[in-house]
Amino acid sequence: MLSKNELIEKAHECGFGDIGFTTADPFETQKELLQERYQDYEWVFRAGLDLVAGTDPTQILPQAKTIIVLMEVYFSQAFPASLERHFGRCYLDDDRITKDRLAKRIKAFRSFLKDNGVDSKVPFHLPHRVAAARAGLGTFGKNCLLYSNKVVGRGSWVLPIAIVVDQEFAPDEPTLEVGCPEWCRNACLTACPTGALKGFRHINPRKCISFLTYYEQGITPLELREPMGLWVYGCDRCQNVCPRNAPWLAKELPINQKTAAMVDDFKLISLLHMDPQYFNSRIWPHMFYTSEKDLWRWKMNVARAMGNTLDDQFIPELAKAFQENEDERVLGMIAWALGRIGGPHAKETLSNALSKSEGLVKKEILAALFSGFR
Ligand code: SF4
Ligand code: SF4
Repeated sequence: MLSKNELIEKAHECGFGDIGFTTADPFETQKELLQERYQDYEWVFRAGLDLVAGTDPTQILPQAKTIIVLMEVYFSQAFPASLERHFGRCYLDDDRITKDRLAKRIKAFRSFLKDNGVDSKVPFHLPHRVAAARAGLGTFGKNCLLYSNKVVGRGSWVLPIAIVVDQEFAPDEPTLEVGCPEWCRNACLTACPTGALKGFRHINPRKCISFLTYYEQGITPLELREPMGLWVYGCDRCQNVCPRNAPWLAKELPINQKTAAMVDDFKLISLLHMDPQYFNSRIWPHMFYTSEKDLWRWKMNVARAMGNTLDDQFIPELAKAFQENEDERVLGMIAWALGRIGGPHAKETLSNALSKSEGLVKKEILAALFSGFR
């Protein structure tokens, strides 16, 4: 029979920053929270992830006895600044599609369990952050993220991986608490540009830029376009402003070579003009929540980000993209971006497009031209 020490040793050998153990008891409080806020999470259920079922580990593995939580650090090396300003860090080195690093290490850990007679399951819908806190690995932030008790300078750049197993191990002391200092005065709540954060364990996911950049269906509402700033996919603002993350953000880290090699592929101009083949081969393997059929969303987000740079180098690119695209959500956002950057070339492009446009696109062009054009 495997001992805890053998598993701890194996977790470190597999490259995980920390490991903790908790019982397979159901997560009753989480279940109640999900039921109370069903409307906020309904889209997750519709996407096929039954979060309520995930609160009962025996629905994942009938003989569940323990949840082992492995702590993965996703920000151990520095990412290029040109990527960090547009993409959430947790997506930059995500290998869930390429399966070339983290997936292999989880597999190695599970093989070790199996070779020692322990059955395991790695569910996506178990409340992994709550499991990690219950296993004593971290405390919560008011930005609803988990802060490690040991690694990344006790910061939030971690991904807890919950593994349900059929063997009993002594649980660790839970740290199910908020670890924020009083003097912080809720910097994350104030900094959240879309007002998604409501307080301890309360976020409206549908107002979070992460959701808005990869799940929202229509053109981004006018009142969110400026607040969403330069983010194209995900958002790190509530982590960047957090004093609990300051020690790690101050570190000189070696550059992440894999992401350094992605810089050219992820330039805004390349993303604005990309075709499905480019998207499928260079972008989707890293950021896969949006598929080829929703390429319009990428282009809409890029156009909005370009507009928010106020950089007129993007005007010819936006004008070119206006000719390349047909989706009214993309064209409407290009019009908005041209209006936001302003200047004679933007005005000329919008004026030329006006007579050939109709519906939403025409409305956006008119708004761009006549609502405070710079
Ligand atoms: S990720 Fe961005 S939008 Fe989402 S809660 Fe944090 S600051 Fe707000
Ligand atoms: S910004 Fe302040 S309140 Fe928000 S998570 Fe960090 S320490 Fe907590």
